[in-house]
Amino acid sequence: MKILSVNAGSSSLKFTLMKMPEEEVIASGLFEKIGLADSSYTIKYQGEKIKKECSLENHSVAVEKLIAELIDLNIIQTLDEIEGVGHRLVHGGQEFTSSVVLNEEVLEHVAKYNELAPLHNPANIMGVRAFMEKLPNTIQVGVFDTAFHTTMKEKEYIYPVPYEWYEKYQVRKYGFHGTSHRFIDMTIRKHLNNDNLKVISCHIGNGGSITAIDSGKVVDTSMGFTPLAGIMMGTRSGDIDASILEYMANKTGETLTQLTNDLNKKSGFLGVSGVSSDSRDIEAAVLQGNKRAILAQDIYSQKIANYIAMYNNLLNGADVIVFTAGLGENSPMMREKVMQKIASLGVKLDLSKNDFRGEFRKISTDDSKIPVFVIPTNEELMIAIDTMNFILNKN
Ligand code: ADP
Repeated sequence: MKILSVNAGSSSLKFTLMKMPEEEVIASGLFEKIGLADSSYTIKYQGEKIKKECSLENHSVAVEKLIAELIDLNIIQTLDEIEGVGHRLVHGGQEFTSSVVLNEEVLEHVAKYNELAPLHNPANIMGVRAFMEKLPNTIQVGVFDTAFHTTMKEKEYIYPVPYEWYEKYQVRKYGFHGTSHRFIDMTIRKHLNNDNLKVISCHIGNGGSITAIDSGKVVDTSMGFTPLAGIMMGTRSGDIDASILEYMANKTGETLTQLTNDLNKKSGFLGVSGVSSDSRDIEAAVLQGNKRAILAQDIYSQKIANYIAMYNNLLNGADVIVFTAGLGENSPMMREKVMQKIASLGVKLDLSKNDFRGEFRKISTDDSKIPVFVIPTNEELMIAIDTMNFILNKN
């Protein structure tokens, strides 16, 4: 069967058409600058890449173009061949604990969480509505970034602030990247043929989060009420002392909104190094001896190491550590730096196995106390699997 995995942003729409259950990518692509003057799209199919500039007034027009291209390129003959569409939805609050079949009523529930993810949820919902309009007879499934984390206990998700903040205003830890962490957990449990693994999953990309998982259930995760919390990231600060906000507001006259924007967009690698948010630029600057780039990399790897050590304690000893996403999959330098900083856990990197990018590999020595793997994440596949399971009535 053919299933579309979709990730709709406010001005973009990413798709992957997959053949399931074979898990083969048939085609993929990106519609960009939707609603803006210079919109365009690219489609990758059979090793070819097609790029077209065209006006895309809204998501509905983008979906129409997508379907027309799939037919024109003979990727599908009729619309019925697309048996399901799976959508990435960022926030499902504490209500959505797993993926769900979408209809108008469910979408209204999802929209309740728009306030908690104002940049993402309304755009995700717009994408779903566009597909519902163009493919009204096709099952649409919502896969939430937050759902995997709903197994956390109060002890982990309640902040030590006035309890009414939680009761009245839903202030709690939600966690994100859940679909990626779930994919990593599923993959490593299958690989090691053990359903009761205690896993520390390190999703380290431009955004980053670390999750402690026991027997398929999240125990704790580093992101929080929003994706700003936890480890340092490309442009986000991660955890900081909340008092800094009031102090800086008094010093600079910036509003809370501006300061929060600084923490989201001008901090992390970019803020500390002054070079870039991209770790490739940071690594190049480190090799040239740039002091602030060296400092940025040092702080970055230390924060990751600290979370791993903390979660090893929380899990009462992890069975496996996995690196994934942009840096986790592609940066031997960062993996080495992090692993040096968790040596006290008895973790040992096999340097001869670390020099590669984007593959599934074990990188620890045989006598490492905790085995360490690199696994390329695949959120699109996880979304397609969930959608397929609804079609096969497995959920
Ligand atoms: P996002 O959070 O946007 O999904 P990704 O997981 O795609 O991000 O990660 C993107 C980041 O991965 C880039 O900003 C870059 O810092 C890092 N990255 C990608 N390739 C490499 C590489 N070869 N070496 C070091 N860092 C890399």
